[in-house]
Amino acid sequence: MPFVITDPCIGTKDTACVDVCPVDCIHPRKDEPEFETATILYIHPEECIDCGACVPACPVAAIYDSVDSTPSSQKSLVEANAIFRVGDPDAVMRAETIVKAHESAHPELMAIPPAERAAAHGK
Ligand code: SF4
Ligand code: SF4
Repeated sequence: MPFVITDPCIGTKDTACVDVCPVDCIHPRKDEPEFETATILYIHPEECIDCGACVPACPVAAIYDSVDSTPSSQKSLVEANAIFRVGDPDAVMRAETIVKAHESAHPELMAIPPAERAAAHGK
């Protein structure tokens, strides 16, 4: 199963993961028009080759190595990662809607600084 970006990316979005991904499956990149408005970045589940390079690159531990390892509080974001596609406004809107719903559903996590948020994910 693919790697999954979760909510510590909200408020961070530094693209460190993009820089190390060997197959360019993390979007939007800084040079893509969706970057400015995207709340988080997303990993394309079919293009990800499970190499693991993005995990240590992320400064806020936002990336989990599978759907199974993604904590229950973050599960809705699995679908957001799967849906998002640059150049497809409907897909972008649907993915962002899931992320916004996640933010609304978890004010306790959003109140924590991104660098400390993963520690509060639980399982
Ligand atoms: S696991 Fe590897 S291929 Fe998949 S998103 Fe991370 S860096 Fe890219
Ligand atoms: S490295 Fe982490 S915080 Fe930075 S863009 Fe990637 S997932 Fe988001």
